[in-house]
Amino acid sequence: MLRVTLIALAAGVLGTGAGGLIVALLGRPSNRVYSPALGFSGGIMLAVAFLELLPAAVELGGALHAGAGLLSGALLIALLDRFLPHAQLASGNNRFMRVGLLIGLGIAMHNFPEGLAIGAGMQAAPSLGLAVALMIALHNVPEGMAMGSPMALAGMRRCRMVSLVASAGLPMGLGAAAGYRLGELSPGFLALSLGFAAGAMLFVVFDELIPAAQELGSGHRAAFGAVAGVLLGLLAHAWLS
Ligand SMILES: [Zn+2]
Repeated sequence: MLRVTLIALAAGVLGTGAGGLIVALLGRPSNRVYSPALGFSGGIMLAVAFLELLPAAVELGGALHAGAGLLSGALLIALLDRFLPHAQLASGNNRFMRVGLLIGLGIAMHNFPEGLAIGAGMQAAPSLGLAVALMIALHNVPEGMAMGSPMALAGMRRCRMVSLVASAGLPMGLGAAAGYRLGELSPGFLALSLGFAAGAMLFVVFDELIPAAQELGSGHRAAFGAVAGVLLGLLAHAWLS
């Protein structure tokens, strides 16, 4: 369990931290880069949900458990979205520290179910958990950029910005520990947890990542980014399993 938590922490902290570091070194990326990057982040999540989490959930617990998990994951994110203060990813255009912090809060809160996916995946099969962790780490990079950009524009010191951005990855360790423990209870619980993580991720993709990617970019940039993310997820899936 400690190993699982550490792997998830690495995927979270190193992933978002890398996004913050890119912003610290290169400055805020232009929307031409930003838009497909967020689409890419969403595409990877689609691949994780449909290629890794949902097939494993259906195999372990049947469509009913997987579907019940999926629905509750999506509902939870919708509730958090309604009741917790945070900002949409596309507000990253902004020069305000507050926007960066609020984006970070949104990322930190959806990192919990992403960690759950890693922990439950590890419980289902170590190769599944590792594939999920790797893809989530990649997906986290553009999210770290979204959080770090407004902070950098607002003039926050670089090392402070990078450490704040990296700390948004911390809930992932907590989620992984919870997913691993829940998955131990029974195959039905494991299927529920995997479905739950998939539902939470799909909601973030449809509600946040794709709309932000579309808003920031013109033409088909966002769509190409998303397809590239799915493609990478497909290759990683074939390669790691
Ligand atoms: Zn995420």
